[in-house]
Amino acid sequence: MNDKNAHPTTNGIDLEFDRDHLWHPYTSMKAPLPVYPVVNADGVYIELETGERLIDGMSSWWSVIHGYNNPSINDAIQQQLSQMSHVMFGGLTHRPAVELAKKLVDMTPKGLDKVFLADSGSVSVEVALKMAIQYQLGKGYKNRNKFITLKHGYHGDTFGAMAVCDPKNSMHSLYDGMLPQNIFVDAPTSKPDQQFDPSDLEPLKQAIELQGSEIAALILEPIVQGAGGMRFYHSEFLAGAKAICDASGILLIADEIATGFGRTGKLFACEHANITPDIMCLGKALTGGYMTLAATLCTDKVAQGISDCDAGVLMHGPTFMGNPLACAAANASLALLQKGEWLQQVTQIEKLMKRELAKAADLNSVQEVRVLGAIGVIEMKKAVDVGEIQKAFVKNGIWVRPFGKLVYIMPQYIITEEQLQFLCTKLIQVLSEQKG
Ligand code: PMP
Repeated sequence: MNDKNAHPTTNGIDLEFDRDHLWHPYTSMKAPLPVYPVVNADGVYIELETGERLIDGMSSWWSVIHGYNNPSINDAIQQQLSQMSHVMFGGLTHRPAVELAKKLVDMTPKGLDKVFLADSGSVSVEVALKMAIQYQLGKGYKNRNKFITLKHGYHGDTFGAMAVCDPKNSMHSLYDGMLPQNIFVDAPTSKPDQQFDPSDLEPLKQAIELQGSEIAALILEPIVQGAGGMRFYHSEFLAGAKAICDASGILLIADEIATGFGRTGKLFACEHANITPDIMCLGKALTGGYMTLAATLCTDKVAQGISDCDAGVLMHGPTFMGNPLACAAANASLALLQKGEWLQQVTQIEKLMKRELAKAADLNSVQEVRVLGAIGVIEMKKAVDVGEIQKAFVKNGIWVRPFGKLVYIMPQYIITEEQLQFLCTKLIQVLSEQKG
């Protein structure tokens, strides 16, 4: 008998098979943490097989900004499905992709005119890195093939992206010999609501003075460093970094995969510093969290440079590039954003989280509480036991997934005041009941 058949199929979701055969993000096959079976998701609620309904505090990792089971995104996908779900993008094009590119050019900072549709955030970062190297080749700089980036950054799990993630957090040591060697500088320490300390820019300046002639681009997450520490930094750092790059022929890649589409209180985090990066990566909330799709945008200058290099073309072309279903979902999601309600929603979420999460600062176990836009972070003094704390969150009717010392929420923009109040109250209650 084949091993697969050794597992009984119950009426429900086969958790035993899941545990034995199915990898979840960053988990062990030998001793995985428990997973909770979901049967339905609607609005801000995730419904478990056991019948419990949880208020989602994660927006499924920054992506589901308009809520689950959103009628207009559902309709858009269904309509597209009846016409075509996929067609290759080599030599063919279609309305959903053209409409999406128009919307992206229109909504993103002025000057980002060229759009590459990629399959996931990590792939869009790979594309951005390739764009930068090909641009420099086009300009005649064969040696500009390194990247400079900030410590505590996170840009994805594929090799190129990982090579610009914080070396410790993304465990570069595991892949010794396989990863390109890039340049890491100290991340800024001035917080958005503080006076800017110009010495924050020194490490970047010095590294560029020393090695600028080898550097193709600076890649960073604007204003919010996400998975590498949930750190918020001052917009003057971003503006200063852009000026330093411009003066030294280095491109700026803004990874807005997490921050894009309103999450920080601006449609794109680059707007806090009034800059247009040379290249911008988008993903996550692009489809309203319905399916995987990402985009890498660049300026005309970058596109010209790429065209001038020997290859004459941008060397990337995934099978599912511009998938029509994903583009239709993205068009519906962006149309919702274009209505403009998101700004008031995010402002309200920020106000309420600032008031409610501040209460966590009184707990002995808490190091710091910080809120920016619709991102609320409670940094603990010690790492939490994810398995244990998650049990308590679920028992209390909320879905929150901490990592390390970071317990954070990034609610959906459509969350009501009452639902958000419940989420914050229960979150703090669970933290206050934790031992140790
Ligand atoms: N960049 C940033 C800033 C991210 O937060 C993420 C995902 N957490 C990625 C890149 C990678 O995106 P994906 O998981 O879609 O590959």
